[in-house]
Amino acid sequence: MGEAPDDERTERTSVSDRIYERLLAMLIDGEIEPGQRIRVDAISRQLGVSQTPVRESLLRLEAEDLVEKKHLIGYSATPRLSAARFEDLFEARFLIEPFCSGLAAGRHQRGQIETITRLAAEMRDGYESGELSYGAFARSDAELHRALIDATGNGYFSEIFAKLHAHLQLFRLLRDSSVTEDALTEHDRIITAIRTRDSEAATAAMAAHLAASRSRLRKAFDQHQQQVREEPSQAS
Ligand SMILES: [Zn+2]
Repeated sequence: MGEAPDDERTERTSVSDRIYERLLAMLIDGEIEPGQRIRVDAISRQLGVSQTPVRESLLRLEAEDLVEKKHLIGYSATPRLSAARFEDLFEARFLIEPFCSGLAAGRHQRGQIETITRLAAEMRDGYESGELSYGAFARSDAELHRALIDATGNGYFSEIFAKLHAHLQLFRLLRDSSVTEDALTEHDRIITAIRTRDSEAATAAMAAHLAASRSRLRKAFDQHQQQVREEPSQAS
């Protein structure tokens, strides 16, 4: 089999990218639930493409820990985070994000802090007008946290952070959480510290935000676990 001509290969890549984005959105929106089987033939029919881009996308999602492949069964969406994985995820975030916020305070470019400030302002506007759903909040929060990491200028940190898929995992876990004003105030503290190039304050503010966010989500997580335990007994 020879190499595909360049334009053919580019076209295939863009179809594959589009399918990847579509599958990612389906995982985020719960169209594909955690643990649900993903059939390559059904997805390719549903999206009107051949099986090749679907398989390519699933390989990418598998590398990102969002789907898993089992022998003889095929692909399924990874299960919801367990309590242990939830704690592990925050442990990893505690290692990366406060350190990166400190770096960003020392190094950020003007355009980067403007982007970060705009994202925070959009979140506050949405919150104050009552139009910010938890889903929209999670997406904007993901963008904001990514922009803070990018402001270090160190691409390795951006890659490591992207690999965690922290917000996607948390959103899949707790889709019906509510947005609190506290989170917005915590963001403002981080941003002020970065803007004034105060590395120590930026590190501390991000650590405080993660600690507060973890305890807010832990509470919601415990309630969710409680419901899961209660449901089977109601059925019997
Ligand atoms: Zn946040």
